[in-house]
Amino acid sequence: MIRVTENFRKIHDLLAAAEARAGRAPGSVRLLAVSKTRPLERVLELAAAGQREFGENVVQEAVGKIESAGDADLVWHFIGHLQSNKTRDVAEHFSWVHSVDRIKIARRLSRQRPRLAGDLDVCIQVNVDAEADKSGVSFDNLPELATEVAELPRIRLRGLMCLPAVREEFDEQRLPFRRLREARDTLVDRGLELDTLSMGMTNDFEAAIHEGATIVRIGTALFGERDD
Ligand SMILES: *Cc1c(COP(=O)(O)O)cnc(C)c1O
Repeated sequence: MIRVTENFRKIHDLLAAAEARAGRAPGSVRLLAVSKTRPLERVLELAAAGQREFGENVVQEAVGKIESAGDADLVWHFIGHLQSNKTRDVAEHFSWVHSVDRIKIARRLSRQRPRLAGDLDVCIQVNVDAEADKSGVSFDNLPELATEVAELPRIRLRGLMCLPAVREEFDEQRLPFRRLREARDTLVDRGLELDTLSMGMTNDFEAAIHEGATIVRIGTALFGERDD
């Protein structure tokens, strides 16, 4: 009980310190608690400490938690690879999707989003290091995909997300985040209204904050090491 709450306070202090060092406004970076593989009890502990936004990457596991959490007033973000046959569950249960990487998925989410639920907020995932085993659109194909996604009804394109290759050095970590920010800025110059950069995890959130992250996705530093 105490540990998750303590971690939560520590992360808050670290985020505030990183914002200050990066010259960012206090509170300009939102914490997404990545609760994948964690039991509902941990989620509820963190919710009791004041955390509202949670990230999941497996649809079935997430839907179970979302339904059990009931009216706890939490905001759920889908951050994993999304298959066509799972889009309906995601469109019906989540508020955000960070991992749109092809138009087919975006069209399905748009069609399947229940009208009463309001717009689904989405980010496009970019494969910043062109890794064969990672999802995400290439930088080259990003402008076309972003333009198409932005036109769909019932989903709202909010920005970009990335999951870079692991780097140890701070200055090295900044590079892919900088490229993502520059790609976002280019799209904004072309008229898209994008206010979100979902980037930075336990190992590299400080570098991401220096490059303009608006949402950091933190699992391990909050909940401890995963068993997987
Ligand atoms: C697991 C995961 C995270 C959290 O990673 P940690 O290193 O545990 O903070 C963030 N984003 C995505 C997409 C993930 O799958």
